Amino acid sequence: MKTIIANWKMNVGVRESVALARGTLLTLRGRKNIPELVICPPFVALSEVRKIVARSHAALGAQNMSWEDQGAFTGEISPRMFEELGVTHVILGHSERRHVLGETDEMIQKKVQKALEHNLVVILCVGETKAQRDAGEERDIVKEQLLKAFDGLRIKNAEKIFIAYEPVWAIGTGQSAEVPQMLEMHEWIKRVLHERFKEIPASQFRVLYGGSVTPDNAYQFLRESLVDGVLVGGASVKINQFNEIVEAASEVLEAQS
Ligand code: PEP
Repeated sequence: MKTIIANWKMNVGVRESVALARGTLLTLRGRKNIPELVICPPFVALSEVRKIVARSHAALGAQNMSWEDQGAFTGEISPRMFEELGVTHVILGHSERRHVLGETDEMIQKKVQKALEHNLVVILCVGETKAQRDAGEERDIVKEQLLKAFDGLRIKNAEKIFIAYEPVWAIGTGQSAEVPQMLEMHEWIKRVLHERFKEIPASQFRVLYGGSVTPDNAYQFLRESLVDGVLVGGASVKINQFNEIVEAASEVLEAQS
């Protein structure tokens, strides 16, 4: 299977989200082999988008969450609230939250723990900055992010986990990773997780690529067996582009069937 996560970030309001959700579902129509689709609108649009995706093949995801269930945490959204909204997936540790909003590995670990407690599918984003890659530190950085995010956690299988390898220098820059660079990191992520959770085979961990995925490069990523899907930001709010990315995934699935 290939999974496509649409991260709309803070780019659309409620009305636009409704239209975009309808358009996004149309990208699946008439295809023989469809990828798994997870739509992540802004919090304020979750309720309306839920009505649209309710009887579809798409799942609803949130872009972040609190590590608390309830209480005096002004401005936060809890996983308990997601239950009412039909949210099944949550993006955690996105680089914009790490680097722009100051989220630490410790905060991300608490969120991962809480999300798993609530039976949510965690989409954990990891990735190095340009300076870290230039210094040859990308493996160490990603390993540290993974180990810290799962610190103290016990999991029996990888069903509720996606890792999105998103090099920070590739997000929203138009400069995606090269396929060999990406493959090396996907292999590394699976290895690190297998070493951490010994009883779970490396192949069970689903690793997505994210960072300037477009119609021009989606196929080259998706056709790789080490790539379980893609996390799409900018191109997910441009329906023509998103349609072509879904098309690329369908072609890959067709070729594999
Ligand atoms: C993202 O939002 O995680 C992302 C990868 O964005 P973009 O596709 O715009 O680079």
